[in-house]
Amino acid sequence: MAGATRPDDGACVLDTGALEQLIELLRADGYRVVGPQVTDGAIVLGTIAGAGDLPAGITDDQEPGRYRLRQGTSQALFGYAAPAQGWKRFLFAPDETLWRAERTDGGFRCEEEPPAIGRTALLGVRPCDLRAVDILDQVFTRSGVVDRRYQARRAAALIIAVECTQAGGTCFCASMGAGPDIADAANCGADIILTEFLVDAGPLLLARPASARGAELLAGVPGWRAGAADCEAAAEAVKGAARSMGRQMPADVATLVGRSLDHPHWADVAARCLGCGTCTAVCPTCFCSTVEDSTDLAGTTAERRRRWDSCFTLDFSTLHGGPIRSSGAARYRQWLAHKLAHWWEQFGRSGCVGCGRCITWCPVGIDITAEARALAEREGRTDANH
Ligand code: SF4
Ligand code: SF4
Repeated sequence: MAGATRPDDGACVLDTGALEQLIELLRADGYRVVGPQVTDGAIVLGTIAGAGDLPAGITDDQEPGRYRLRQGTSQALFGYAAPAQGWKRFLFAPDETLWRAERTDGGFRCEEEPPAIGRTALLGVRPCDLRAVDILDQVFTRSGVVDRRYQARRAAALIIAVECTQAGGTCFCASMGAGPDIADAANCGADIILTEFLVDAGPLLLARPASARGAELLAGVPGWRAGAADCEAAAEAVKGAARSMGRQMPADVATLVGRSLDHPHWADVAARCLGCGTCTAVCPTCFCSTVEDSTDLAGTTAERRRRWDSCFTLDFSTLHGGPIRSSGAARYRQWLAHKLAHWWEQFGRSGCVGCGRCITWCPVGIDITAEARALAEREGRTDANH
């Protein structure tokens, strides 16, 4: 927790003007700065020109199947929970061409399409989303097969994380060990960690360097050395978010799901699930994709595209003319069981970071924590009644 920060950790305090200068510094260094901003009634991620583009004073209400913005009670720059989108789209493109081919006199010429990659600073990455980036790093770069496109984008990314000081109505990162604080600054994958706290004059940011590049950047902006009171105020703000988190996942969910594969509860969820795949699109760790080949009508050019896919589509599991997961129950079970149980066998960790997006953005409000709890309750357990 930020409470572990000591004034001698290289931590400093930035006001909004100093944050503005940090953004200017990044832009001058050739970075496209991506951060949260209000668009069409939601906090989404996009290019920002300065601190003025951040959603100052705005907060969110999130519940199963419901998301609303409203004016907050302070001018906090980061006074809301997880933005509508995760950050994976900036590292793992939703839709991109992999190669193009062209007919020549003697046959075909095939060329790889170079990925569009530029230096990108991701500003405002929440602890759960930072953990999600580490999960994607593992999947795409540390699991034996390296995805060079992901690897190149990740290498060009600089991450400025922001600890959570406000829990959303659907978050449960604390029970997944993925927030609302960032405990291990040196190994978290960020370059700078910010924690916002409020004083009478407005919001301030405790800034901790988490990499050599982050320390270099912080040395270039007009912050002041953090004192014990600054660190305490920041730690208290994060503890407040932890205290107000209303949901949690059963601690033994991986084994619970593993022994519930034939459970009648999957049919109960299927009766509500629309199979729309929204949960997989908003999930910051879902990484499934498909490839599509196409040619022009004359057959002179062809291309292969890769785009995000979802285990909720029938095509995703189609083998030899038919889907192997033809029922909604089988598809929901596949998604939840992979995320919470089989991910452990595959990657040695959970695939869920507790960001709550799949709950908020599910059009019928299906709640992954409630479904896991229902499995436990049908075993006659009462310890899952959180
Ligand atoms: S499964 Fe849901 S709560 Fe877990 S990381 Fe994905 S979107 Fe977030
Ligand atoms: S759980 Fe919700 S978001 Fe996911 S496929 Fe079903 S209806 Fe869509």
